[in-house]
Amino acid sequence: MKALAKLKAEPGIWLTETEKPEVGPNDVLIRIKKTAICGTDVHIYKWDEWAQNTIPHGMVVGHEYVGVVEGMGSEVRGFQIGDRVSGEGHITCGHCRNCRAGRVHLCRNTTGVGVNRPGAFAEYLVIPAFNAFKIPDNIPDNIASIFDPFGNAVHTALSFDLVGEDVLITGAGPIGIMAAAVARHVGARHVVITDVNPYRLQLALDMGATRAVDVSKEKLTDVMKELGMTEGFDVGLEMSGVPSAFNSMLSTMNHGGKIAMLGIPPSDMAVDWNQVIFKGLIIKGIYGREMFETWYKMASLIQSGLDLSPMITHEMPVDNYQEGFDIMCSGQSGKVILNWS
Ligand code: NAD
Ligand code: ZN
Repeated sequence: MKALAKLKAEPGIWLTETEKPEVGPNDVLIRIKKTAICGTDVHIYKWDEWAQNTIPHGMVVGHEYVGVVEGMGSEVRGFQIGDRVSGEGHITCGHCRNCRAGRVHLCRNTTGVGVNRPGAFAEYLVIPAFNAFKIPDNIPDNIASIFDPFGNAVHTALSFDLVGEDVLITGAGPIGIMAAAVARHVGARHVVITDVNPYRLQLALDMGATRAVDVSKEKLTDVMKELGMTEGFDVGLEMSGVPSAFNSMLSTMNHGGKIAMLGIPPSDMAVDWNQVIFKGLIIKGIYGREMFETWYKMASLIQSGLDLSPMITHEMPVDNYQEGFDIMCSGQSGKVILNWS
């Protein structure tokens, strides 16, 4: 089958022919229809230090997708051939304490589709049926193909009560922008989002952010004055992984504020702990999505009118994958979709 794989230990990704994956007794075989390019795929493409230390030679990458169930193992229940599915990319062990307690998203033995095991940038993907999520009929393929990063946005944004709250989101990447849309949809008051990329800040406004701040040109504290915010943000969603963005968040939070951290800092990050301690801040780390509560909430948010379609700015056949990666690397895009069928 056709697949996009990391064939060489250098920047790039290559379209290749590989074996169709084998289906175990508890697995589903998914024929991939559409995939989306994630920031993680860009790290793998650029072959940064993390990728060099993590990605095995020849790995088929990708973990954002929608497809159709075309086969399944003898032990699988609850799925039928032809079901339209996306899937949770974190494969969990099932036997650690958290898995057995139902806190599956906190499994200590998680492995990643398209990172530690073959991914979705292929004509076929095999995952445990446990990880597959059936897509309701009224949710289109394009939207379903970005459920994985949408899930990061939903899990992070819904970590704390947002109703009537003032929310700061640092980082208007695809996930930050979708988090802004979720925050508005569920009833936040001011949703202020920061970045240094004008294209993405505009997209964030289109998606419902109340104020977009280019921190290379404007001071966040000036914007707070303009909005009449005298005490600070109630909830912070860190979605940039940039240390200066996190520190500006700490300094603009109200006392008792709550922060959910999704962005991954490049290395050790200095933190002004006095802000955390004397303001009594609560900080929660976020990894992935809750299984499968986040997935149900994603479907419901779309069905209750949240429109993610402006997020998908580019779509092309997989043969044009190079163009797709170039666009993602440029930062001048929302989500980029590759069509497999
Ligand atoms: P992204 O890289 O597209 O977005 C990050 C954004 O931060 C970019 O638009 C960038 O321009 C912006 N930025 C740069 N400097 C800034 C500054 N000083 N202030 C504010 N913004 C600034 O990434 P994404 O795909 O949207 O993901 C967001 C973050 O979440 C990344 O750090 C990613 O690695 C991380 N992530 C974590 C998980 C998890 O499970 N914890 C999952 C997916 C992604
Ligand atoms: Zn586990």
